[in-house]
Amino acid sequence: MIIEEVDKTMADNLAGIPQATSATVNLAFKRSDINKSLEAFGFIVPISEKRKIKAGTYSSTKWNYRTPSDDYVLIRAFVGGARNQELVFQDDDKMLEMVLAELRDIIGLTARPVMHKIYRWIKGMPQYTVGHLERVANIEARVQANPGIYVVGGSYKGVGVGDCINVGFQAAGQALDHVKTLKEPETGETKDKKKDKTKTKKEPA
Ligand SMILES: Cc1cc2nc3c(=O)[nH]c(=O)nc-3n(C[C@H](O)[C@H](O)[C@H](O)COP(=O)(O)OP(=O)(O)OC[C@H]3O[C@@H](n4cnc5c(N)ncnc54)[C@H](O)[C@@H]3O)c2cc1C
Repeated sequence: MIIEEVDKTMADNLAGIPQATSATVNLAFKRSDINKSLEAFGFIVPISEKRKIKAGTYSSTKWNYRTPSDDYVLIRAFVGGARNQELVFQDDDKMLEMVLAELRDIIGLTARPVMHKIYRWIKGMPQYTVGHLERVANIEARVQANPGIYVVGGSYKGVGVGDCINVGFQAAGQALDHVKTLKEPETGETKDKKKDKTKTKKEPA
């Protein structure tokens, strides 16, 4: 890891955040083949059900522009996660049949898809396990001690896309502020000062 060469404590804390593996199985059906209403955003499966999928999204209900017409329906199933990671590594055909069997049991869907796409997200889901807040505090302390390094993404303070965008903006602002404090090698002036001088020169007398 690049950070290891710069700050071993930061690297150890970063590596201490476990990452789970998951997959999405995206299915397209002809609406005429579907024998049930999909007037909902989908469902989440409680762990106690011991199912092989974690959730299902009725993608074409949630985002109605994702199908070329109302004649088609999209469903996305989630496989894997911290408790079932091994399911992600079976081959595509087996995963497809497993998901279809689960959808048959859970929502009574018996249609065959006209198209499917499987995406695997290897170690793409950070796990906020016991000690997470302490690990993040340690990382932030090391970030403070290493000006010019910023950590962003879903591993620290929220996995939602909105959280990630938020920390991305914050880090970009901090990086810009940092760049302004850097000194020009030849003059020793900060980038900010040099910019001010350039501006002054351009002003009419
Ligand atoms: C299956 C799944 C479904 C989700 N659904 C939702 C949802 O509905 N709503 C929601 O808000 N959040 C959802 N999330 C969470 C959200 O998508 C993630 O938390 C968010 O995308 C994390 O952003 P990130 O920038 O940290 O990582 P990522 O989005 O994973 O981006 C990391 C990027 O770095 C690249 N990369 C990795 N290693 C290297 C390297 N060595 N060199 C160069 N590039 C590299 C990767 O290719 C990737 O493009 C979901 C997550 C998963 C896995």
